[in-house]
Amino acid sequence: MAKYYFSEWAQYLLELNTNNMKDQDVSEDSFRDKISTVSKEGKRVWVFPKKPKGRLYNTRTWVAVVLLAFLLIAPHLRFKDDPLILLNILERKFIIFGIIIWPQDFHIIVMSIISLLVFIILFTVVFGRIFCGWVCPQTIFMEFVFRRIEYWIEGDYNDQKKLNRQEWNFDKIWKKTLKQTVFFIISFIIANTFLSYIIGSDRLKVLITDGPMAHLTSFIAVFAFSGVFYFIFAFFREQVCLIACPYGRLQGVLLDSKSIVVAYDHKRGEPKGKYNPLEDRLTSGKGDCIDCSGCMVVCPTSIDIRNGTQLECINCTACIDACDAIMDKIGRPRGLIRYDSENGISEGVRSVFNPRSIAYSGVLTVLLLMVASVLIFRTEFETTILRQKGTLFQEYGEIGYSNIYQVEIVNKTRDRHHVVIRLLEPKGEVITMGEPIVAEKGNVAKGTFLVVIAKDQLYSSNTLLKFGIYSGDRMIEEYEASFVGPNSLDKK
Ligand code: SF4
Ligand code: SF4
Repeated sequence: MAKYYFSEWAQYLLELNTNNMKDQDVSEDSFRDKISTVSKEGKRVWVFPKKPKGRLYNTRTWVAVVLLAFLLIAPHLRFKDDPLILLNILERKFIIFGIIIWPQDFHIIVMSIISLLVFIILFTVVFGRIFCGWVCPQTIFMEFVFRRIEYWIEGDYNDQKKLNRQEWNFDKIWKKTLKQTVFFIISFIIANTFLSYIIGSDRLKVLITDGPMAHLTSFIAVFAFSGVFYFIFAFFREQVCLIACPYGRLQGVLLDSKSIVVAYDHKRGEPKGKYNPLEDRLTSGKGDCIDCSGCMVVCPTSIDIRNGTQLECINCTACIDACDAIMDKIGRPRGLIRYDSENGISEGVRSVFNPRSIAYSGVLTVLLLMVASVLIFRTEFETTILRQKGTLFQEYGEIGYSNIYQVEIVNKTRDRHHVVIRLLEPKGEVITMGEPIVAEKGNVAKGTFLVVIAKDQLYSSNTLLKFGIYSGDRMIEEYEASFVGPNSLDKK
């Protein structure tokens, strides 16, 4: 590669820019002036990507299989009688790998979401859009479920194009009908899977076994969500990444010249030139790119990665595999398109550490420590005892005074507790009014009780009481409240 000196590359860029400037009024020649999936008339250009194959695609397939299996199985796994994962946003109850986060601990969820956002930002600064290509559910479902079914029913990209162009005959009708039917069934399964994360698999089973008429609203909601998923994967497709996904739109501010992205090695590839088996490529003055369009035809967002990092690139790695296969065929080293940074390609420097990534790492560490400490030190119960509204004190026979209190106990444990309230200081009596207080698992128990204190125990019109909240013989919490007596006590 010693042949492709920086000065040559600069010269090439100069020529390219000069040509582009000449062609500026012919805007279709400038890739930044148009979206590859929209025609000059403003109509959608349907993308028919070639079926990818290669080392990275195989690895991504395994990653997708594991993630899909986890997505489908996780809501049905149980830990101590509860789902392993539950994201009940309606009731603000979350279970993350067996850790229950009750509505009263909602601040933990908010802190976790903020930490996750910082993690995503940091990860993007350092590793670009690796998440989009390897983990994003949109990419996994699109490329490894729906697109695979499409290849299976309609064939590879050329067969699909032919089928779309041809008349509506029997062959086209059955293929299109079968494909859309399978698409809708899978969308229905996806909608049910997401629903099981929200309401839990037990509740979902009840909805299914009772039949649609017994829970018509839920059934309509699932059907509507199935329709949304069907629309996304059958029609909207890559447009989600191009125009709807906020993460994609943030790339411009998150990426810098040190971020690792799927990148074309322009130093090695330029100047491009068609392959001639009779020509010695090394002495011909041409770069390694043989301008075969192999990287473009596999691209699910229909871009040319040789134009540089673009918002449309979801880092799916299909172009890396395609180009590696070409390099193997022409006897050149792999990696003309590879994971690398702009600095890595132009200067051979591959440091992912920069002030931004170090600052984000610091913030992320602090946030994770905060979330961990809040989780570790959170209490199992939360008690509130307040004197009943609108009441003061009452004489209790000749011996003392009484106050009425209302108690609320949040039980954040997995067990049911029979709660007893005792007065620790000063001496006095607690009389429960109504039913005994029972705190169900994950629920708020409420009760009313009377506190009676002998007159000789009171030295002020406002006495501080110390309550002990017991489950059996175990004191689960202490709580302080005030006891009101007559003003005459202040003169004692
Ligand atoms: S696949 Fe490789 S050789 Fe072919 S056009 Fe793309 S970058 Fe050039
Ligand atoms: S340019 Fe390459 S990595 Fe980016 S979306 Fe297209 S095929 Fe995938």
